Amino acid sequence: MTTPIDRADPILVAGAGGFIGGWLVRHLREQGFTSVRAIDLKPLREWHQVLPDAENQVADLRSLEACESAVEGVAHVFNLACDMGGMGFIEANKAACMVSVLINTHLLLAGRDADVQRHFFASSACVYNVSLQQDAEVTALREEDAYPALPEDGYGWEKLFSERMCRNFRDDFGIQTRVARYHNVYGPHGTYDGGREKAPAAICRKVAQAKLAGTNEIEIWGDGEQTRSFMYIDDCLLGTTRILESEILDPINLGSSELVTINRLVDIVEEIAGVRLQRRYDLDAPKGVRGRNSDNTLIRERLGWEPNTSLAAGLERTYAWIHDELVRAQRSIRSATAA
Ligand code: NAD
Repeated sequence: MTTPIDRADPILVAGAGGFIGGWLVRHLREQGFTSVRAIDLKPLREWHQVLPDAENQVADLRSLEACESAVEGVAHVFNLACDMGGMGFIEANKAACMVSVLINTHLLLAGRDADVQRHFFASSACVYNVSLQQDAEVTALREEDAYPALPEDGYGWEKLFSERMCRNFRDDFGIQTRVARYHNVYGPHGTYDGGREKAPAAICRKVAQAKLAGTNEIEIWGDGEQTRSFMYIDDCLLGTTRILESEILDPINLGSSELVTINRLVDIVEEIAGVRLQRRYDLDAPKGVRGRNSDNTLIRERLGWEPNTSLAAGLERTYAWIHDELVRAQRSIRSATAA
């Protein structure tokens, strides 16, 4: 059951310059929320989306002072701020990932003192015990599989610790915390190059680059037989707001249960692009766990819904956006060279 929150309640989106945060600000405005404060560490020109009718601010939310001013006058907080990226980034930046613990800690402390009512924390499937994810033929992960704890080193530990902090702040101080464990989110307006991109965006970029350059090769990290599920951004937004409005007190999976190998992901993107590429496997590249899927029994029970956008439909929109971004970048390089 969900109880809609008042559309006049002021909202804070932390991490609003990021992929999901940018979409969330847009979604909240479209849903009729009249007062949305959007904050990110990055300068505005680097935000994936800037909504002109939100209160956009740049601040480093690792500091308590910045969090105190961020939550001033706010009724509900969505915390999506985090120093993160795909496997290549999180495996090489474990300490940086753990430092994000300051963001959730200080937002909770500031929120407690400012009488914030609801606090949403974006957790991750990386909290799950890695020993349960060694096989590509996975048993989908249920919420209780996070314990006994053996999460992904760095990023996963930070998420698990922050989840517990949410629970303890709720029990001890009454702040209504909600936690979703996102499983790989993808869509347009996300990072698709530079080292922080995740598999769907990276594969879309590589296929589009090969098509535009007329080369017929693609590099794949690992042997391509590792399995994952990928959730389209629209499902993530719907699930996020519903979970905030729900009485689901414990962390809950928010992910697609459509399991694919990375090779199958490449097949789908190739079909969309109308190309067939020679695959070169980099077996030394970061691969993450061997297999992972989301068990959606609990979310179906509690919300009567689960993420349901097919991978093919979501990738079609994502590929089109990344392809157009690459074409736009090529054109601006050409016109700069011609000038
Ligand atoms: P993202 O990197 O695009 O967005 C995160 C944003 O947080 C960035 O814009 C970054 O600048 C900002 N940020 C970092 N440190 C900050 C600070 N000190 N102060 C203020 N802002 C700061 O990532 P995303 O994909 O949009 O993910 C959003 C949230 O969802 C994150 O918490 C992430 O861990 C979680 N999550 C995402 C996925 C996914 O597949 N995208 C999967 C699981 C969990």
